[in-house]
Amino acid sequence: MKASQFLISTLKEAPADAEVVSHRLMTRAGMIKKLGAGIYTYMPMGLRVIRKVEAIVREEMNRAGAVELLMPVVQPAEYWQETGRWEKMGPELMRVKDRHERDYIIQPTSEEVVTDVARQELRSYKQLPRNFYHVQTKFRDERRPRFGVMRSREFIMKDAYSFDRDAASAKASYQVMAQAYRRIFDRFGLTYRAVAADSGAIGGDLSEEFQVIAATGEDAIVYCPESDYAANMEKAEALAPRKPRGSATAALTKTPTPGKSTCREVAELLKVPLDTTVKSLVLATDELSAKGEVVGTQVWLLLVRGDHDMNEIKVGKVPGLDNGFRFATNAEIVEHFGTKPGYLGPIDLKKPVRVVADREVAVMSDWICGANEEDFHFTGVNWGRDLPEPEAVADLRNIVEGDLSPDGKGVLAIERGIEVGHVFYLGTKYSQPMNAVYLDESGKPQPMEMGCYGIGITRLPAAAIEQNHDERGIIWPDAIAPFTVVVCPIGMDRSAEVRAAAERLHDELLEAGVDVMLDDRGERPGAMFADWELIGVPHRVVISDRGLKEGQLEYQHRRDAAATKVPAGEMLAFVK
Ligand code: ATP
Ligand code: MG
Ligand code: MG
Ligand code: MG
Repeated sequence: MKASQFLISTLKEAPADAEVVSHRLMTRAGMIKKLGAGIYTYMPMGLRVIRKVEAIVREEMNRAGAVELLMPVVQPAEYWQETGRWEKMGPELMRVKDRHERDYIIQPTSEEVVTDVARQELRSYKQLPRNFYHVQTKFRDERRPRFGVMRSREFIMKDAYSFDRDAASAKASYQVMAQAYRRIFDRFGLTYRAVAADSGAIGGDLSEEFQVIAATGEDAIVYCPESDYAANMEKAEALAPRKPRGSATAALTKTPTPGKSTCREVAELLKVPLDTTVKSLVLATDELSAKGEVVGTQVWLLLVRGDHDMNEIKVGKVPGLDNGFRFATNAEIVEHFGTKPGYLGPIDLKKPVRVVADREVAVMSDWICGANEEDFHFTGVNWGRDLPEPEAVADLRNIVEGDLSPDGKGVLAIERGIEVGHVFYLGTKYSQPMNAVYLDESGKPQPMEMGCYGIGITRLPAAAIEQNHDERGIIWPDAIAPFTVVVCPIGMDRSAEVRAAAERLHDELLEAGVDVMLDDRGERPGAMFADWELIGVPHRVVISDRGLKEGQLEYQHRRDAAATKVPAGEMLAFVK
């Protein structure tokens, strides 16, 4: 592929709503483009990653004996009425009407449709077991779409469904899938954990989530470093008796000390300019004059949007207030933090406050926080990591951290994860209401035993970035990189030798089956390198006149600190 024919659209700035690094980098690298809330176009560069994820998933699903079909995105409501999910599912289920006022849904998964296929096609025990899967667009009207394609409303999922004659055989099919998932996530080259999840009443313990470990994960994982015990939040809570809650200062990791500060100091501590928007942060500051002199007393700098959401709060002071922001009233502060008016003392948080800067804030310690008392606040407050723990995670710490693990082999620890896959034994939950039966050896109809198995195809690249990036951009694992090698010629338009060498290497690599990109845009080296470091192509070859004179090309891995000289004739073998 040649850059001049492709679309490379890198950005200097990340969008203001990008809270996590994967969202920032995918947007800046030109991989995704937002169309609406939780709705994204997968741009050419991003689609290449998605296709690689899909290819690995397909290979392993096929290897495990699953067969691919493709079920509709828009599904008639009647199938969902058969299983009762039409009524049971809340607003996450997108319902639409056609021109005849008939009801349809946009599929969030496909249990109903696949069960309908099975009840028509699988009639005898001789046809079982069977596993059908597809890779298809899903829509879930998520309450809070965020983090780009990590939690979007429209996304791509691989969902597989197994059909078996009895529970024992269904459980064996489940194990085949659980194994295939391990192979898949191993191949992506990510650090992940398979954790026991709650399968409700049906499946006993036959439900596992595959969680990519990341500090920004929305899920909590409870695990025992001394054994293979690992469970998700709901599962762990069910196992452990609830401890009484502490003094509800969950988000504070250090006892704050009362002190004084100005909003300038606050901004310096945050390493952000005055008037940077952050979210859900409570600060004290001084009244400033237009010239920036301190003229008044300290006040709460708790700014909330008109909708009471406590979501957006500004660092800084009155000048430059964004539209839609205002100071919180004392009553709101009292309500949110559970303090009395005029309260003096540690902030007793009713809920952990989530601190999210809209840009990278390296140090999240020693914040200055206000109390709703004039001239009184706290310094030295530590709020944890740059994306604070979701409430549920903080709750979990309170409940199980440090307890003996259920297998008795050690003490429980907690980490955060991104759910990228889920395997689930369903029993007859769908086959029963939909009357999906097969005839057994004696000709008797029996309900099929089912399992379902999902992978978040478009969530996966985001999870990979959360684990693999640096200050310059993404560092893709080879398996899912949009291009494996980028060839960067320097002065290609001036030097016929450079052009010829670059094109030759590009063609040879293509011939050898390597996913190569030749950057023939004629960019200056600095800008060209910055683009590819942002995009995260793992291997780079630089071709220059000076190097060619010595018969050398330069190779550098995205993680290397410096380039390695490689004789021009050996580069193909070197990067292949
Ligand atoms: P979550 O707990 O994150 O909401 P889920 O448990 O609702 O996910 P499943 O029904 O198990 O999701 O779907 C299978 C997979 O689809 C998930 O493991 C996840 O990787 C992916 N997925 C689910 N919801 C989304 C979403 N809104 N955006 C992107 N991927 C998603
Ligand atoms: Mg969900
Ligand atoms: Mg989940
Ligand atoms: Mg799930």
